[in-house]
Amino acid sequence: MTSRNPSFSPVEVGPSPDASQLRIRWRDGHTSDYPPRLLRVACPCAACVDEMTGQRILVPDSVPAGIHPLAIHYVGRYAIQFDWSDGHTTGIFPFDFLRRLCPCRVCGGEDGTEEIPLPSA
Ligand SMILES: [Zn+2]
Ligand SMILES: [Zn+2]
Repeated sequence: MTSRNPSFSPVEVGPSPDASQLRIRWRDGHTSDYPPRLLRVACPCAACVDEMTGQRILVPDSVPAGIHPLAIHYVGRYAIQFDWSDGHTTGIFPFDFLRRLCPCRVCGGEDGTEEIPLPSA
């Protein structure tokens, strides 16, 4: 947690143009669009992930399809925290974690592995 990639810091966090997704624009020019439910299911807090085993406690099926953040709070300069419509507020999402969650084709969903984007289906 000592060295943070400066490109994993957002210049803008907000809803996508159709308001259906959360959009983060990153300092390196990348844009990530997250379905809100993806973020809620990935919540890394102690109520959703067992701190000892790292196992996910949260059952994805228990997360409503229409879940969305009611509010977004910055936590220092390294993370954001969501107030979810299901009342869950304890998840803190570090920016480098969010970047690894980016669901776009370029990112392949994890670790920022650069790939040639596939033509859209
Ligand atoms: Zn949680
Ligand atoms: Zn991406």
